[in-house]
Amino acid sequence: MDEPPCYDLEEERVIEEIRRLDARRVLVQLPDGLRPHAFKLTERLEGAGAEIFLAGDSCYGACDLAIRQAESLGVNLLIHYGHNRMLPDVEIPVLYIEAASKVDLKPAVERSLPLIEGWERVGLTTTVQHIHKLGEVAEMLRGRGMEPYIGKGGFGLLRPGVVTGCNYSSAISIMEIVDGYLFIGGGRFHPIGLALATGKRVVAADPYLGSAFIIEESEIRRIIMRRLAAIESARYADRYCIVVGLKPGQLHLQEALNMKRALEARGKRAVILCLDEVRAEALNNFTEAEVFIDTACPRIALNGLEDLRKPFLTLREAEALIGLRGVEEIWRYEGGV
Ligand code: SF4
Repeated sequence: MDEPPCYDLEEERVIEEIRRLDARRVLVQLPDGLRPHAFKLTERLEGAGAEIFLAGDSCYGACDLAIRQAESLGVNLLIHYGHNRMLPDVEIPVLYIEAASKVDLKPAVERSLPLIEGWERVGLTTTVQHIHKLGEVAEMLRGRGMEPYIGKGGFGLLRPGVVTGCNYSSAISIMEIVDGYLFIGGGRFHPIGLALATGKRVVAADPYLGSAFIIEESEIRRIIMRRLAAIESARYADRYCIVVGLKPGQLHLQEALNMKRALEARGKRAVILCLDEVRAEALNNFTEAEVFIDTACPRIALNGLEDLRKPFLTLREAEALIGLRGVEEIWRYEGGV
């Protein structure tokens, strides 16, 4: 028997919206974690009397909104699960469903307490799936004599305390006040980004595993050394390939054109390469390029593409390379590229 999802898929609200808009065709976009429940969800939504289609391409964030697919299919409503709104409104109505997690946060937060012992002011951050329970966590910390702080997000972040892989503005807004951050959520992707963006201590409480861990300073130092080495290795290159992502929230063409001009003004050669999905196999075909510059999702270059044979810099790293940006602000992501 199928396991029920541990996320609130808000089927009733979705059905109401389909009926309210009298939508005949609906495209549903799910992140990977929710795809095992796609059959059941589709069957439920078909109860609204519309044709329901599933979007099968990658969906890494709200930057990945399936607008082009929705247009090709002639749908009247796009339902995007798992992320907050990040892009301005488009012609096709979009319903964002946060997919709030039903997982209990307390066991993981309890385990994190010894790791934040001695902190007086704790910055709280999370993903949109757990934001509805951040108040509970704040209460737990107060009960232990700590003062929790939840920062307001800028640029495209609607909910205080929420972070995304390219937007740590809610954490940065309280950076001067807090002793460190407690991140609530699964995996290492966000806590590492948080430590890079703020330079502060970060402890992560993973509610899915019921465990907690510290992001060690030595790990962040290693990442920074690796990135500085990549910047250095790009210094004497002659041919640069500037990668433009075609996903709606990753399209930074003007920034790419500016970088091309800046490189050419320094006697370098640069071409612009446009891709929907930035993959090493695709980049490796462009063998003349000595360095790739990522203007799509900054985390692609930052996390590294395993099989890529050439240095791959984020746009900000490339700006630092040619003296347009100070090294200290490279990884302070507050939205944008
Ligand atoms: S651009 Fe990258 S980090 Fe930002 S939301 Fe999209 S996938 Fe996440």
